[in-house]
Amino acid sequence: MSVSHQLGARAIAARVQSGELRASDVAQAHLQRIRELDPQLHAFVELWPERALQSAAAIDRAQRSGQTLGPLAGVPVAIKDNLLCQGQISACGSKMLERFVSPYTATAVARLEQLGAILLGRTNMDEFGMGSSTERSAFGPTRNPWQMSHVPGGSSGGSAAAVAADFCPLALGSDTGGSVRQPAAMCGVTGLKPTYGRVSRSGLVAYASSLDCVGVIGRAIEDVALGLQIAGDDERDSTCAKRTVPNYLQELDGRKDLRGIRVGIVREFEEATGDEGIKLAVRTAQEQLRACGGTIVEVALPSVKHAVATYYLLASTEASSNLARYDGVRYGHRTAHTRRLDELYEQSRSEGFGAEVQLRILLGTFALQKGYQDQIYGQATRVRAMLAADFAYAFTQCDVLASATSPMPSFALGSKLQDPIAMYWCDALTVPASLAGLPALSLPCGFAVERLPAGLQLTAPKFAESLLLQVGSVFQQQTNWHLQRPLS
Ligand code: GLN
Repeated sequence: MSVSHQLGARAIAARVQSGELRASDVAQAHLQRIRELDPQLHAFVELWPERALQSAAAIDRAQRSGQTLGPLAGVPVAIKDNLLCQGQISACGSKMLERFVSPYTATAVARLEQLGAILLGRTNMDEFGMGSSTERSAFGPTRNPWQMSHVPGGSSGGSAAAVAADFCPLALGSDTGGSVRQPAAMCGVTGLKPTYGRVSRSGLVAYASSLDCVGVIGRAIEDVALGLQIAGDDERDSTCAKRTVPNYLQELDGRKDLRGIRVGIVREFEEATGDEGIKLAVRTAQEQLRACGGTIVEVALPSVKHAVATYYLLASTEASSNLARYDGVRYGHRTAHTRRLDELYEQSRSEGFGAEVQLRILLGTFALQKGYQDQIYGQATRVRAMLAADFAYAFTQCDVLASATSPMPSFALGSKLQDPIAMYWCDALTVPASLAGLPALSLPCGFAVERLPAGLQLTAPKFAESLLLQVGSVFQQQTNWHLQRPLS
C-alpha cells in the first residue's frame, strides 16, 4: 500500500496497529523521500536505513502475532546528533566527535523505541548546540525547506527541517536556550521544550547542564503530545523529576475552548519583537486565543531585558566546564602533530572545536576565574533568580504567556555569521523560559512574509505541559497553520 508522507504520528501508529499499514512500508517511503530531497536540504547528517528497516520488520512481526503495539508503533523519527544511540556515531555537529561511537543509548531515545518508534537517523545541528542557525555545524549548514536560501534556525535546525519537509512526523531536539522552539518557529512546525527535569538528560551530550532539556518537534500538537510520553523519572539522571507522567494525548481531549484561561501578554516581549511581519502574525494569534474564549491580560517581566546577557554568560561558563572533557585523550579528536602532552591538549582542542565553541569556552573560563567569580558568575545567578521570581509573579495574574518565539523570521544563510551578538539576539524571547526552567511551546501562527513562517510561543508554570498542549491544540483546531507544507 502506498504511504503518504503527510500522515502524522498518531495516524501512522493507528494504521500500523490495525494492520492497515506495514511499518516496513512506512519506513521505506520516508527513507525514499529523504534520499530524494535531503541532498539539497541537509537535514540529516546520517541515515540508518538498515537499523530502521530491521526495527520496522520487528514491529510488523509483533503486529502479525497479535501483540499490543506501542502508541508510536512504526512512526519514523529523527534524532538530533547530540543524543546517544548505542553503536551509532553521535558527533554533536563537531569535528571533535566525528568518529565517536555511542556506548549506550540516551533515555529519551530508548523510550521512543519502547513506544514503537523507528529511528531513521541523526540530524544536523550547531556544534554542541551553540548557535541559532545550524550554520555552526562542522558538516555544513541545513537549509530551510520554506526558502532554500535561508537558515532553518538552530541549533536543532536539522530536526525542525526534517519535520517541515515531511521526512518524519516527529523528531527529537534539545533546547538549552531555544534550540527546539526557535527552529520550530522558523520552519513552521510545532516544538516543545518541557520543564527542566521533565525528560531525562541521560545520554544527551552536555552543553549547559542547568539549562539543557530534550524537546519534541512535530507538525501537529497531538503528535508532540505523543512524543512527550518519553518524560518521567530516570535513575540515570538525578535532576529528573520524580513526578508521574500524565497521558498527554488523552488530556488534550479535556479542553475544547479557552474559557477560564487567562493569556498573559508580556510588555517586554512585545518591545523586543522587532520584525513587523512577526508582530502582526503574533497579534493576530493572540486575538485568536481571545476568540477561543481566553481572557487577555497584560503582565510585566522587568528582568527580561537582562536575559540574553545572563544566558550567554551562564551557558558559556557551564560549557567551558562540560567541554573540558574533550582533551584528545579520553574522547574525540586527537591531533597527529605532536608528542608532547600539553601540546596534545592544545592542538587537539584547536583542531577539533569550531570558532564559536572556542569563543564560548574562552568566555566561560574567563568568567569563572578566581576573583571574577562573584562579580560575573554570581551576579548572573542572581539575575536568573530575579527572572524566575518575575515569572512566578506573572503566573499569579495569568495561566499562560503568549508571545513571539523568535523576534525575527528566518534569515539568509551567512547573513549573521560575522556578528555573534546579532545571532544571540535571535534568542531574546526563548532564553527567559530556559533560565527559569519553564515549559514553552512554539506553534506556527502564519508568515512574517511569504514563505517565512512566524512562531507563537506559549509559556506556562513548571510541569504545566498538559495545559500548554491543550491551549496549543485549541489554537491549531482554529487556525490550521500547521497543515501548510513547504514542499509537495
Ligand atoms: N542559540 C542558543 C545558544 O547558542 C541556544 C542554543 C540551544 O538551545 N542549544 O546557546
